[in-house]
Amino acid sequence: MITTILFDLDGTLVHYEYDDFLSAYLDGVAKKAACLMDPQRFVKRLLRATEAMITSMDGTRTNMQVFWDHFTQGLDVPLEELIPLLDDFYLRDYPQIKDILDIAPHPAARRLMEQLMEDGYEVVIATNPVFPEAAIHERMRWGGIEGLPYDLITTYENSRFCKPNIQYYSEILQQLGRSPHECIMVGNHTCEDLVAGDLGITTFLVEDYILDDGPFRREPDYRGSFEDMVDFLADERFLTAVS
Ligand SMILES: [Mg+2]
Repeated sequence: MITTILFDLDGTLVHYEYDDFLSAYLDGVAKKAACLMDPQRFVKRLLRATEAMITSMDGTRTNMQVFWDHFTQGLDVPLEELIPLLDDFYLRDYPQIKDILDIAPHPAARRLMEQLMEDGYEVVIATNPVFPEAAIHERMRWGGIEGLPYDLITTYENSRFCKPNIQYYSEILQQLGRSPHECIMVGNHTCEDLVAGDLGITTFLVEDYILDDGPFRREPDYRGSFEDMVDFLADERFLTAVS
């Protein structure tokens, strides 16, 4: 019986092209840091530290620790100046990306979250934990799904692995005390999200903003539009209610 629904965020619950978001983000954060570091050097370091998080197999350090360990290697800028600047970026500048990209909530997204919670499902925001909590909550705000009682939201502070590492999903199962056959993973990336199927988690590929690349490309158990996914989960509710 399914007890737990894992949702990817970008391109799944919040609708926009990830590449557009990424360039607006990198542009904004590099401008913010320009008073301390050359913007190109900053972006290079940021991407390298992010890559270190994504490929890390070290289950003892959080993604945040891995990120900063790499970011600060040989860095001549004091962290006590850089960190408040980045905090201020996430508070003041990052929220503006919503308007730059003209992002609006999907009308059915919040209702779906509320309905699943009402029906007693555990709901997890299984977004790749390469961002701080503040940035993830801000993107949830863009999608109109912020402020609900989620069972878990994976962030770089509370996670030790990233997608598409299968350990990312194992860590979620461990934190929730769930087995794979109790879970569905809903996502738009055929590699990062569908790799959950390797553990035996049922997968649903939402195709509206599909990303189909990467070395661990998988076939989903189910696929369709965002609306199809909403209908599918309504069916699942029906099936478990009568079983
Ligand atoms: Mg996604």
